[in-house]
Amino acid sequence: MSASTKPVRPALRPTTSAPRIAPPRPRGRPRVTPEQVRQRLATYCRRYEARVGDNGLPPFPAGQRESPQHREWMALYKAHRRLQDRPEADDVQRLPEFMAAQRASCAICGKRLDVAQARLDRIRQTVLHLDCLRLVTLGRLLGADAVERVKEML
Ligand SMILES: [Zn+2]
Repeated sequence: MSASTKPVRPALRPTTSAPRIAPPRPRGRPRVTPEQVRQRLATYCRRYEARVGDNGLPPFPAGQRESPQHREWMALYKAHRRLQDRPEADDVQRLPEFMAAQRASCAICGKRLDVAQARLDRIRQTVLHLDCLRLVTLGRLLGADAVERVKEML
């Protein structure tokens, strides 16, 4: 086979842009932003004449089960929880300091914490596991009487 019969590759044309690759489609729910949650909280508070408490949510609408207000509160609670699941950058920077002060143990269950699991409870300025923080947040929302009833069920 002589050099002249070799198949010749077509010359690559210079491209002016990077190849188009579709970005991966996000899975599940779209990420909720702190601003979106703030707007939804403001709308809820206006509609139901409620105020946001120290825990970042309006009071649980006790006695309103299956009402539109109850459904909206639950949606807000879930959005708020999704935000809580993602620690904010400031919190992540402060975690090692808090963990050292607590000797890397969770203030609720007492078990060992690592940075990936640790979340800062901004109200008490302490470090907890994500699940432990959820438990505390739910307890704050439902109130001490509800927590006492839970204790009786354990
Ligand atoms: Zn814990």
